[in-house]
Amino acid sequence: MFNTDADSETSTTNGSGDCAAAAQRAQILRDEIDRHSYLYYALDEPVISDAAFDSLMQELRDLERAFPNLIVPESPTQRVGGYIGATFESVEHAEKMYSLDNAMDLAELDAWLKRTRQTIGQPLTYTCELKIDGTSIALTYEDGLLARAATRGSGITGEDVTANVRTIRDVPLRLRQSVSHDDATYRERIEIRGEVYMPKSSFDRLNAQIEMESAKKADGSQPRLFANPRNAASGSLRQKDPRITASRDLATFMYALANPSDTGTAGQWQLLEWLRQVGFHVNPNIAYCSTEQEVRTFCEQAISTRNDLPYDIDGVVVKVDSFALQRQLGYTAKAPRWAIAYKFPPEEKTSVLRSIVVQVGRTGVLTPVAEFDPVLVAGSTVARATLHNLDEVRRKDVRVGDTVVVRKAGDVIPEIVGHIEALRPLDADEWQMPKKCPSCGSVVFKDFDSVAYRCVSAECPAQRLERLEHWVSRSAMDIDGLGPRIIENLVEAGLVRDVADFYALTIEQLSSLETGQLKYARQMGPQRREEIGDYEQVPELVGDLVASKLYDQIQVSKRQPYSRVLFGLGIRNVGKTVAELIANNFSSIDDLRQASEEQLTSVEGVGPVIARTIIEFFQTSDNIELIEELRQAGLQLEQDNSGRKPQTLAGLTFVLTGTLEKYSRDQAEALLKQYGARASGSVSAKTSYVVAGDNAGSKLTKARELGVPTLDEVQLDAIIASGEVPQIS
Ligand code: NAD
Repeated sequence: MFNTDADSETSTTNGSGDCAAAAQRAQILRDEIDRHSYLYYALDEPVISDAAFDSLMQELRDLERAFPNLIVPESPTQRVGGYIGATFESVEHAEKMYSLDNAMDLAELDAWLKRTRQTIGQPLTYTCELKIDGTSIALTYEDGLLARAATRGSGITGEDVTANVRTIRDVPLRLRQSVSHDDATYRERIEIRGEVYMPKSSFDRLNAQIEMESAKKADGSQPRLFANPRNAASGSLRQKDPRITASRDLATFMYALANPSDTGTAGQWQLLEWLRQVGFHVNPNIAYCSTEQEVRTFCEQAISTRNDLPYDIDGVVVKVDSFALQRQLGYTAKAPRWAIAYKFPPEEKTSVLRSIVVQVGRTGVLTPVAEFDPVLVAGSTVARATLHNLDEVRRKDVRVGDTVVVRKAGDVIPEIVGHIEALRPLDADEWQMPKKCPSCGSVVFKDFDSVAYRCVSAECPAQRLERLEHWVSRSAMDIDGLGPRIIENLVEAGLVRDVADFYALTIEQLSSLETGQLKYARQMGPQRREEIGDYEQVPELVGDLVASKLYDQIQVSKRQPYSRVLFGLGIRNVGKTVAELIANNFSSIDDLRQASEEQLTSVEGVGPVIARTIIEFFQTSDNIELIEELRQAGLQLEQDNSGRKPQTLAGLTFVLTGTLEKYSRDQAEALLKQYGARASGSVSAKTSYVVAGDNAGSKLTKARELGVPTLDEVQLDAIIASGEVPQIS
């Protein structure tokens, strides 16, 4: 009845037993998981649901189980997810901070209960706690005073967020005396662990405030809302300005100690009591379970009450209670064997699919979007979900009139999981891709090399709008204030047809545009409001002040580097990274225009598909005209090479491992890249050098096995200073 994405995909590689195919798939999965981890942990801007992320992880774990030789130390299955950025100092944890292994359903929970019981050889007692959906924190107290607070980061080192944590009201700055347990040792140095979270009500308030502030802006740009309370908590904790953290209303639940024997407690249940006595906020929804059935009951009850709690939880953490038995069970590389996170099933809702509309993107690709009756899924109301392409519509077999299953799995992007066959109306027809573009009526073509259908008309208004929006976007020309509504009005007024037209706009033209904002009647007094309802249907004008700011922003954008111009042009398949690669190798747009397919593909990262689309771009006379207009307007069409280092390390690949004293790994990699070097995360026979800092582990071992030369930090320093690799004895 339902389509399950993962099943159909994994079976092709896993089932065939083809090791090479499995290795390739595992590599793709590792890269994709790393990318999403970065978006999630570093930027707090996930683009896929947790359920989807978890299923990628599950697929990788299954592959690694089937082909154990594919397990590499840098695999996300072997690591604690997390991120250490450059904003905060990195700090080392007293003991490694682990993640948790998951039980995705009650059967997996049972398997874990059985495994722990059998390993110990006797029935066990467990402490069950709610799994708070926040972000981990480690608090160090010295002589009873809060000395440091750090995020989990890699598990070994985290980010120092002490100043921010000091603003969280329920974090004690000084510990109290414990009445029932040994309290002498905690006075020296003790590391307490738990979760920082944002209550649901504070999260709603924060997003409402962001929305309100954005509504005040004239440009109609979309507010950047937080996806969920977890991301809001993590983002708020990692603010540069502690005053912002203070205003975000964060709270904590603490549940662990780096070294619990410091307290004289014998197990988790007693530890929670100790934590409460010394002043921490401990979650009250806990249970001491003497039987496995009690554990299951606690998990089931947690599911049914989760929506009533004032904070988000995403499961239950079950811990073997006794510390002595915990020590006996030990840890894997990533998680304790004595604990498991029982994850709640992703939240799904059903709704009726009313229509499938088609959106036309910047490059003319037609994307079907499902519109269904609004439903509340995982905390917010959704009514639309992309169906990506015709293949996806067919694979999910969704039809207008169907009762569809919508999922958000506690996170961000709504998706249609499938339909309920039994509820399909008799007259529900298979959906067809329109033959004509819904925006301009031109004939639609199917790409020969992909699943996409495309409108190829250069005059298509929907594509034009998308292209203009892409040009002003943050990663391209970054013209703040030119939001979609203003652009639409500029096009409607006939002032802008292509991106070069932005540079001919005058302040007067901008100031008389409509913003698309409606005047809010409440500001006009109760009587007027009674007359007209909430909003007066009078669009506001941009006005002189905003217009002159917009004008300045447009002028400033002329200074954006050549690589951004290339990206902004929206050449198919040329994303930000490819644009940078191209700009580094073809120092002006005129050079690029002359480049042959062979010259283009000789750039690492540029394949034949990209090369062909670049050549096609320059074969179109409209595009050549556009470039000339941009040249006239004063845009940067050449690479600025002043300050560029000689590319003495081109062709060399470095792998950095261990902790460096002077640099973070990112910094060292960036410095090496200035000389044209490549940085990689894993050691292979192709690696030129491994730079080993303190506590370098398996990568150093592998380098030695493969005979890859290794460098220390002093040698790294010399390379960064000179761009030359010193002689290695
Ligand atoms: P996790 O969050 O699933 O579990 C481990 C964490 O649970 C611990 O580090 C701790 O901070 C926390 N926790 C909460 N209550 C606890 C309690 N009572 N006792 C002990 N620990 C408790 O694991 P993770 O590795 O931190 O993150 C993985 C999660 O992040 C998954 O849910 C995954 O889907 C999500 N994720 C999503 C994306 C995405 O793109 N959507 C990307 C990366 C990660």
